[in-house]
Amino acid sequence: MVPPKKDPRSGLPKMDKLLAWPEMTALAGQSGRITLRAAARNALKTAGLLLQDNPLTDISRTRIIGMIEEELRRLATPSLKRVINGSGVVIHTNLGRSPLPETAREALLETARGYSNLEFDLATGERGERYCHVEDLLCELTGAEAALVVNNNAAAVLLALSTLAAGREVIVSRGELVEIGGSFRIPDVMAQSGATLVEAGTTNRTHPEDYRRAITEKTALLLKVHTSNFAVVGFTAETSTAELAAIAAGAQLPVMVDAGSGCLLDLAGFGISGEQPVQTYLKEGADLVTFSGDKLLGGPQTGLIIGKSGLIRQMKRHPLLRAVRIDKLSLAALEATLRLYRDERQALARIPTLRMLTTPAAELAAQARSMLRRLKTLLPSDIRLKLHDGLSSPGGGSFPLVQLPTRLIEVALPAVPAHRLEALLRSTSPPVVGRIQQDRFLLDVRTLSAEDLPLLAGSLRQAQEAANAR
Ligand SMILES: *Cc1c(COP(=O)(O)O)cnc(C)c1O
Repeated sequence: MVPPKKDPRSGLPKMDKLLAWPEMTALAGQSGRITLRAAARNALKTAGLLLQDNPLTDISRTRIIGMIEEELRRLATPSLKRVINGSGVVIHTNLGRSPLPETAREALLETARGYSNLEFDLATGERGERYCHVEDLLCELTGAEAALVVNNNAAAVLLALSTLAAGREVIVSRGELVEIGGSFRIPDVMAQSGATLVEAGTTNRTHPEDYRRAITEKTALLLKVHTSNFAVVGFTAETSTAELAAIAAGAQLPVMVDAGSGCLLDLAGFGISGEQPVQTYLKEGADLVTFSGDKLLGGPQTGLIIGKSGLIRQMKRHPLLRAVRIDKLSLAALEATLRLYRDERQALARIPTLRMLTTPAAELAAQARSMLRRLKTLLPSDIRLKLHDGLSSPGGGSFPLVQLPTRLIEVALPAVPAHRLEALLRSTSPPVVGRIQQDRFLLDVRTLSAEDLPLLAGSLRQAQEAANAR
């Protein structure tokens, strides 16, 4: 008979014993009892795993204390942190979409610091409306009769459908039943709003007649959705907003456009085509347009709704509005961002998302050269840097077919494969996100800024140390 094996973890101290060690008293003074307990629990778990892996692992008292100290350092670092984006994807949803303009950052901080007239009418001393702070500005910039802002564009679409079409039917082209980033799907949002989806046309072609035929006495709305992150090419036909508006007018129905990214400027002159400014949907006869605040607009996470005042008024009275309302910090940042659009040149120069998207290739090349020079002065010579030509993508579900010429900085460490360098740079402080192409680790100059360089150099040095430590 084989005797039952002893659990290799039984030699580890129990939690109460561990917390009573004199070394722990000093640590508790620095980090507080609750954090220390969490760190000790994690350290014991790690030690247990090491022992299960190899029962002969030496887990001394000093080693346990060392592990607890390491855990404490990890717990002291915020989970949400700044990341250097070298991916070249300007509107990167996983990296927080748009960096905010300086004036928006200042407005946000000022509002966070104290009290504000968020819902207080300073002229009358009575209760005010939070939406008033940007409504006039949005109307001024887009020519809309009225406007409303909510938490994000998904909320804007949900609110609009719930208000205008619950219990009734909404007609959408089969070519526009999109999914955006996994969790936003037009059919699901429709179901959530209580409206019934009526599909018109086919995946590649939807004609005005398809919409006309789909209209019944239950129809509440004709909806057009920007296909954002994909493109149908080849034998295609799309019914324009103007055609939809004509059909809707005949049937006395409203037309709504979910413009997705939504921009206020025409970017075609910068090689970025396929995205029409939101105000043009209104000119073509749309009654409502919804779009995101943190995609092409370049502001904070918000959902903007512009259009007919009667429809906006109904949405303001819907109970769902309270559940999707915008918070004061986003509102402050949004107002500051929108103000920059009063002057197109100012918007292009001071809104980081627009600036990165519209930087001419020659300017990027000059920036790349100067970044390379600067990095070389900050880094040891065995970290090799080299420039290449490449392409960057706008991202954020905008312009799926657009690729912008850019310059790339290749970073290489001797004897460290690109995929290993990529992984090491994700755990530096700050982490650096780049991309791998043909076994090269590359940083796209388009999404880097000169201010990033000292931090980037620091991260590259940390990655080199980590690689050498093995
Ligand atoms: C991005 C997008 C959404 C969702 O917007 P969020 O601001 O992320 O909520 C909805 N519809 C379309 C067409 C989009 O592109």
